Amino acid sequence: MYKTKAYAAGSKTSPLASSTIPRRDPTDSDVQIEILFCGICHSDLHQVRDEWHEVMPTVYPCVPGHEIVGRVVKVGRAVKNFKPGDLAAVGCMVDSDGTCPECEAKLEQYCPNLTLTYNFPDKHKTAPVTYGGYSDSIVVKESFVLRVPPKLDLAGAAPLLCAGITTYSPLRHWNVTKGKKVGVVGLGGLGHMGVKFSHALGAHTVVFTTSPNKKEDALRLGANEVVVSRNADEMKKHAGSFDFILDAVSAEHDINAYISMLRRDGNLTLVGAPEKPMAVSAFGLIMGRHSLSGSAIGGIAETQEMLDFCGKHNITSDVEVIPIQKVNEAYGRLLKSDVKYRFCIDMTSLKSE
Ligand code: NAP
Ligand code: ZN
Repeated sequence: MYKTKAYAAGSKTSPLASSTIPRRDPTDSDVQIEILFCGICHSDLHQVRDEWHEVMPTVYPCVPGHEIVGRVVKVGRAVKNFKPGDLAAVGCMVDSDGTCPECEAKLEQYCPNLTLTYNFPDKHKTAPVTYGGYSDSIVVKESFVLRVPPKLDLAGAAPLLCAGITTYSPLRHWNVTKGKKVGVVGLGGLGHMGVKFSHALGAHTVVFTTSPNKKEDALRLGANEVVVSRNADEMKKHAGSFDFILDAVSAEHDINAYISMLRRDGNLTLVGAPEKPMAVSAFGLIMGRHSLSGSAIGGIAETQEMLDFCGKHNITSDVEVIPIQKVNEAYGRLLKSDVKYRFCIDMTSLKSE
């Protein structure tokens, strides 16, 4: 075991603060990574504040962070695909059982014995739960370590590990291609990646935002149209017209307004995970045979496919890079939708703690 620096929350009401955490020494199949950048996902905020208490209560201290890019410093004897000095990335998962039907289908994110990157029981017993990327260093099983295409900007690449794969996977699953009309609801960290991917896949892309000041950005990011969702007239124009809508909103909102915008057999997939349950109108689904789904991140193979797609199309996240010392301020701004469009922590700032 070794000790490493991290930022942790001690309770649901305390700010994140400098601390020290244990990491296991790499086993034969592990990769040890020096973390260079870590994105700030809204899930980090939900989890730190225990907003998902019913589903996955937070264990404190909590070290969040699952959009990790760094450099390999050490590898176990059985590691084949990484060597010291290589770039490497880690997303939301660090282990699964590898034998269940979900793992066999390369959908490890749905494995009943999944280990998420933070706040999940640590199989190695280094600590009660896993600790995430707001840290100097992490040790991860090789099969859960991703390759970063070399030409991508590293700070902009980090958010691909969650915001990227969480939007890429459902767009691919629901066959978003040229000729389809796609809506993206909420232009945040996930939403702005959804727009970039939907555009790159050739779909006619419409952004729904509550923030009129994001209109120009939405067009620059690849949207064909932008609708300010608080404007009822603008909303009406799109009734019954979408093949697919991706809802990436982090807070309570009226999902029925979007379900009614689907065409026959259209699907709305929820990736946003608000704290409170939503009311869904039965008739909104019945009329038009609409469907409502959810989607969690993506499997490891698909995450690598997404990273390679980003390398090919030169896609990264639009980031505001901050030192770790500004993380609490960043959480406050995230709640006000005041970030264009993902905070990314420069982890070298942790060295001065
Ligand atoms: P984010 O950057 O904070 O973006 C959320 C966006 O939702 C905001 O930018 C805002 O967009 C919109 N919004 C916020 N409050 C709203 C309200 N009251 N009514 C309507 N719209 C509102 O968050 P994120 O990191 O993209 O994450 C979004 C959600 O996805 C979170 O709940 C997160 O936990 C979840 N998530 C799920 C998965 C998964 O696997 N399914 C993975 C990662 C994250 P506008 O300003 O454009 O309106
Ligand atoms: Zn995330």
